[in-house]
Order: sequence, then C-alpha cells, then structure tokens
Amino acid sequence: MPELPEVETVRCGLEQAWVGHRITEVYLRREGLRFPFPSGMTAHLKGATVTSVRRRAKYLLIDLDSGMVFLSHLGMSGRYTLITPDEVPKYLATEVSSNVSTFGELTGFGGRHDHMEFRFGNGSVAVYTDPRRFGIADVFPRAEEPIQTLLEHLGPEPLEQWTALDAANRAKGKRSPIKTTLLDQRFVVGVGNIYACEALHRSGISPTRPTNKLVRKDGKPTKALVELVAQVKEVLKAAIAVGGSTLNDFAAVDGTLGYFGHHFQVYDREDGPCLKEGCNGTIERIVQSNRSTFLCPRCQK
Ligand SMILES: [Zn+2]
Repeated sequence: MPELPEVETVRCGLEQAWVGHRITEVYLRREGLRFPFPSGMTAHLKGATVTSVRRRAKYLLIDLDSGMVFLSHLGMSGRYTLITPDEVPKYLATEVSSNVSTFGELTGFGGRHDHMEFRFGNGSVAVYTDPRRFGIADVFPRAEEPIQTLLEHLGPEPLEQWTALDAANRAKGKRSPIKTTLLDQRFVVGVGNIYACEALHRSGISPTRPTNKLVRKDGKPTKALVELVAQVKEVLKAAIAVGGSTLNDFAAVDGTLGYFGHHFQVYDREDGPCLKEGCNGTIERIVQSNRSTFLCPRCQK
C-alpha cells in the first residue's frame, strides 16, 4: 500500500510528465473504482492542459487550466505507467488483450486491471492500473476543493505546518495508544503503518503508550513528543529522498511509478535483532487495531 513518500514520488513523476501538456483522450474501462466515476469526468478532462500536480495527504490533485481539479488516490494497489511517445508503438504491439474500452472507443492498452488511460498532446500515454480497485478518481472545480468530503477533515501535513505543539493540542485527553493515533488522519495525515512503526522506534517510544502521556500537565509537548514529531518528519523525508533517486530508474525500466523497496529498521523484522546502537533487543510483532506493529521492547518505553 503506497504511503505518503510513495505518493510524493508519484506526484513528482506525474509533474515531470504531465505539466504543460494537453489531455487529448481519456478512456475509462469500467464504471468506477472504489466509487463510481463522477458523471462527465471524461468531458472535464478532455482538452484541458495540466498546470500543476499537488498532493494533500495521499490524494494527488491535478490542476487543469479549465479551473477543474482531477483527484486521484492510489488506494491499496493503484499505479501509473507513463509511456513516452517512442514507447507507444511497443505497447500497442504487445499489450493488447482487450482493446475496446467500456464506452466502446478503440484503444491499444487493455490489461485486465488497466482502468483509466490518458493520452496527451505530445503523444505520451499514461495508464492507471489497480488490481484491487480501492483507488479513487474524482473531478471538481478548484473553488470547491475546501468542501470536498474526502479532503475537508484532514489534519496537518507532516512535512509542512505540523509542530510538536500542534500534536500536543490534538493529543490532549486521547487515551488511545500513540501508534493508533499516528494513523488517525485527523491527528496528522499520510503516516501509514510502516512509517508509524519506524518513527516510534527511532524515538524510543512504545507504540502502546497512551497518547495523552505525551502531553505535559501545562499542555505543552513532552520531550518524547517533540522527538516523535521530529522523527516522523525524518523518516518521511528519508523515504522521499530514496523515492526521488529511484524515479529515474523506474522511468528507465518500465515507466511504472508507485512502489519501491526500502530498508526498514523495525518494520517487518519480527525476531530480528534491534538495529539501534548499543541495544541488544529483539524485534517483536504485536497487533493494534487489526494492524501489525513492530517494536523493540528493550529500547521503546
Ligand atoms: Zn532496541
């Protein structure tokens, strides 16, 4: 499942490929993904030029010169394949399994899980593939972005305005375990299971610690919370840096954006030795809110 750093990497890739280019054709191969596609989506996208590609939490927001915004969320398994003009003939020749879209247009890209296809004025093609179909596609006027149901209740962006004081304000009175709170999009957006585990390990905080224990009596953040906020930012920045460096490789290999491997300190390392210097602990796995949490009980208190 792509987390914030992966989505940010996809954003960079789409920005490089799409900004300044006009969408000439849109093919939808089904009626929707997690939700039905909004009516008229194709008409709103066709003929518009992409002016910028933004990200809010894990939502990609593609601005169009028509004043509309195309929203794309990758869900559990969504990804974009960007095909350069000179690669298009190769795809046309090899990847045809069903070359008729839901609405009857003849197209050349027809993998079973290729649900959306975009053609651009420069001859490039982008294909959205999503085997599990938990992704979201929507379109709305930019002026209505603040009242979009999907976006309006989102908490702060971890790499922008988020501070330890803001975290303390939101943590007050919360008895839920800090790991669960980190995954709550109203507390901070875009921190998924992997990076929550990693940031807690780096900060030496047990994932089971009640959230309100990280706030002082006077309402200020404890030292531990200050450290946690800093480490969330660090793990996300480091992962984005890795993503940025893989971007060229991905474009060179098969043009697929969306996933890349990372080396984790604690995530998915059950029974492995703790990698923190001087700690001889062993990584354990527990289950919190139906999600696996990995921790070192020796150095996380
Ligand atoms: Zn340890």
